[in-house]
Amino acid sequence: VKAIRIINGQAEVINERCIGCGNCVKVCSQGAKNYIRTTGVVWGILTGHRPKVALVAPSFPAEFQEIAPEILVGMIRGLGFDYVVEVGFGADLVAREYDRMMTDGEHGPSISSDCPAIVFYVEHYYPHLVPSLAPIVSPVVAMARVIRERISKDCATVFIGPCISKKVESDELDEVITFTELRDMFTDRGIRPGDTEPSSFDPPHAGRGAIFPVSRGMLNTLRREEDADGTGIVVAEGRIQFREAIREFDSGLLGNMHLQLLCCEGCIMGPGTSAGGKRFARRMKVTEYVRGKLHPEVTRCWLEEMEKSEGIDLGQTFTPRDRRLPQPAEDPIQAALEAMGKHSPSDHLNCGACGYDTCREHATAIVQGLAENEMCLPYAIENLHRSISELHISNEKLASAKEALRQSEKLAHMGQLSAGIAHELNNPLGVITMYAGILLEESGPQDPLRQDLKLIVEQTDRCRKIVGGLLNFARKNQVNREETDLAEFARLSLDSIIIPENIRTRIENRMNDSLAWIDQDQMMQVMTNLEKNAIEAMPDGGTLTIILREDDDQIGLCVEDEGSGIAGENMDKIFTPFFTTKGPGKGTGLGLPIIYGIVKMHSGKINVESNDDPGKGKTGTRFCISLPRKCVNP
Ligand code: ADP
Ligand code: MG
Repeated sequence: VKAIRIINGQAEVINERCIGCGNCVKVCSQGAKNYIRTTGVVWGILTGHRPKVALVAPSFPAEFQEIAPEILVGMIRGLGFDYVVEVGFGADLVAREYDRMMTDGEHGPSISSDCPAIVFYVEHYYPHLVPSLAPIVSPVVAMARVIRERISKDCATVFIGPCISKKVESDELDEVITFTELRDMFTDRGIRPGDTEPSSFDPPHAGRGAIFPVSRGMLNTLRREEDADGTGIVVAEGRIQFREAIREFDSGLLGNMHLQLLCCEGCIMGPGTSAGGKRFARRMKVTEYVRGKLHPEVTRCWLEEMEKSEGIDLGQTFTPRDRRLPQPAEDPIQAALEAMGKHSPSDHLNCGACGYDTCREHATAIVQGLAENEMCLPYAIENLHRSISELHISNEKLASAKEALRQSEKLAHMGQLSAGIAHELNNPLGVITMYAGILLEESGPQDPLRQDLKLIVEQTDRCRKIVGGLLNFARKNQVNREETDLAEFARLSLDSIIIPENIRTRIENRMNDSLAWIDQDQMMQVMTNLEKNAIEAMPDGGTLTIILREDDDQIGLCVEDEGSGIAGENMDKIFTPFFTTKGPGKGTGLGLPIIYGIVKMHSGKINVESNDDPGKGKTGTRFCISLPRKCVNP
């Protein structure tokens, strides 16, 4: 009946929907679903002053296979019961009533009402069929009425049986416990078969009614055949069959047939019995016990008892208690199916792994708040696959972020070191340049020292440039953004360097709006450094192209050449200070590190693409810098 709701991955029983079939208790191998034990109440009853009667369900031989019936009765008395009676006799009375109802035909086609789970099922989910429920009490209630008549109106009655639905069946019983709970009570009091005196059930004794709890038990009790001699009884049991039978009964397919239904596969397999019981062995134990009752002597006494109980009212009425959920609209069901990745009929695997027969039923339950997406196995697997590949991607991103971090840490350390050295060298270099300059000026044109002095001046100049570059690289300058027309800015950058004859330059402006906010001095340094590198890469001439791009709120400045390209193994070294391939006295290896620092301060990125292999096409390099058009400093 789908009385279990999944909330945050936890299964929870919804009280109003539950019919007490106990299927959840039986199937949960973790023992996570359980029923409320009421042995405490029974202990309370046993200390009271009313006559205490144990009503033992006829399925007891199936459960207590290792204990002889007389010993079991003795053990129950040992708990403190004054009377121990067989509910089987109640079953005999009830069977007689069913027989009369079917024979006189006044009631019309009926649904048996001796199994409380079936009664709850009809009351909750087929409320319009409530009038079809046989208006007859269940065997245990029949027995309770007999007891009150025979022993005392004031009896305290405790039913002991295989059923948990019985716990809420009737107010006419003081308490209901299961066979499992009875075993607990024996253990509590240290009652063992070996130390127990045998004892018999108190009268009235059961006849064929003792066969009631096995499949077709009622038919056996009635001595009727299923649907063979026109008596018209359909027998169905187990949670799948009984629902089918009611459905067919409801749609009128069964004509005038009576339904004889049990929720479990016979009461002998009820949720209140020990786990792991063997169905047919249990069945055999019950029939063996009944066979022992079929002596002519016993039968004569039984007939007398049946006679005596004629006057007891065994009538009962039922109330419809509709618990059906409204059928959700089509749209939300479709949405729920979509959310589980079921877009077309071929996605409806109807595998049943979720506990619902079809994907559609599952989706309906989701809309009704009873189920979750995650219960769909194919969906969960699909999700898992997706998470794995997402994890993979983010792992790669992490690795590249780590690499970038390592690089910038290295640069920061280099920066500190170089700034320290540069600062210390700057002043002495200044002094050397000044005095060498003075000496050079004072030397005559024919002075033999003049060439040497010239060399000193040149080389110290070079040193000062390097030191200046180092200071530039290390300084944490502020970015002073000004509105700049990039097209003009690019032209200006080309004007401020010396361009050899064999180099052609062009500016390719792909921007609609060429205005951006940049630090002009710093970005000029970036552009000229890139342009110088490009020129230096094309000693035999070629074209230097500046490309201006835009992409949403980013602007792009690219410098492209047709030079030698950068060797693959050098790609991750070119931003390292002092890395140069330009031979002694030519490159400083500081151009790109400075560019890197400036671009970072503009919250921008540098991208390099290069081909140094003529076999793979035209060689050349393109440095692209992208910056936020207007970024406020982070
Ligand atoms: P430098 O120009 O002083 O060598 P940079 O930091 O500007 O120092 O450049 C470092 C190295 O990167 C260069 O020596 C060169 O090998 C490589 N490089 C930079 N730009 C280019 C380019 N446009 N084409 C080929 N190689 C380049
Ligand atoms: Mg350079």
